[in-house]
Parts: sequence; structure tokens; C-alpha cells
Amino acid sequence: MKLVLDEEEILVLECIKAAHVDCGFHIRDVIKRAKSGYGISRSTVYEIVGYFEFHGLIKTNKSGCRELDQNIPYFITCQRCGKETPGNESVKENGRAICEDCYLEEHQKIKFADPMAVRSMKLFRKQHGLVGTEGLTELQKEIFDFILEEGGVTPEKISQLFGLTLQETMNQLAILRHCELVKGRKLGDEIYVVPFDS
Ligand SMILES: [Zn+2]
Repeated sequence: MKLVLDEEEILVLECIKAAHVDCGFHIRDVIKRAKSGYGISRSTVYEIVGYFEFHGLIKTNKSGCRELDQNIPYFITCQRCGKETPGNESVKENGRAICEDCYLEEHQKIKFADPMAVRSMKLFRKQHGLVGTEGLTELQKEIFDFILEEGGVTPEKISQLFGLTLQETMNQLAILRHCELVKGRKLGDEIYVVPFDS
């Protein structure tokens, strides 16, 4: 059964991570943090911890303490676009858990020149049965090939190599992203554009 966390569960998970010490965590510390930080009641914390235990995300270790099992996969619902995203690919932003794509969009200093053009492009491709790189301009294909070869590139690097302004690069990347050829990924403090399937 897939574990998809809602907003409150994500917050309690945050509190658990913060309350974690070497030997595990004590539920009392989680309750304190959840109450003072987010106004979440004691009974809700117990309920959510029980739910996590049911899914194996929390287990009791050898010393009899509760601990998080980092190997158990879980998903979050992106609080910006609603997409289900693996927990380890989500990003905390202003108290909201969002997906990497939304993080990328929110952190673009330069907004897409014409979002409507991107949307109608997607519709056009769909209507004309275009898949993959079909229907892309030579420049878009070259950028896409470059991303495939490198496995991941920053928009800045693409700008430099292709002699484009950052805004032009972002516009081209927007089209590749809306064709679902590439997506954004946060690595450290940097945003990388990676192949969609990676
Ligand atoms: Zn999202």
C-alpha cells in the first residue's frame, strides 16, 4: 500500500526528524514540537505516529526506542500542483512541501515570457500526434541532446554554451518540460535540468 502523506502528516514527520537523536526519538518531544510549532494536538500526533508504524516508516529499534526507517518510501502531494511526488524528491518551501518542478518554477528569477504559448504548444503537439523530439526546433533538439549526454545541467550552463540569454534558455526549457522531455531537480543548492525519465 502506497504511503501518501497529507499536510498534517508531513508536519508531524518534520517534527519526528527534528526530535530524532542517535538512539531514536521520544514521542513526548514530537508532541511538544508539533504543538508549539503547528498547533497539532497530542492525540493527532499519536494517531499519525500509529499510522506511520503501520506502514513501517516508524519502527521500534533494539534499544526499545522508536525510530524512523529511512528505507521506507513515502510520497507527498505537492501543495502547489497536486502531483504525487516521492518524499525524497520533495522540497520544503515556506512551510509547504512541493515537488522539484514547482520549486524550479518558483525559483526562476525570470518568468516564462509567454506561458500561453507553451500551453498551446502542448495542445498543438497532442492534436498532431507529435511525440518525443518531433516538431521541436533544431535548437531545442540540440539542447535536449546535450541534457541527455550530460545527464543533468544547470540552465546557466546551457545559456553559456548555446549563447542564449537566461530568459531565452528558460523559454526553450519550458517547451522541453511541457513536452515531458526534461524536468527540474534540486541537487544541493542548485537546480539542474535532467532527462524526464531519470
Ligand atoms: Zn508541484
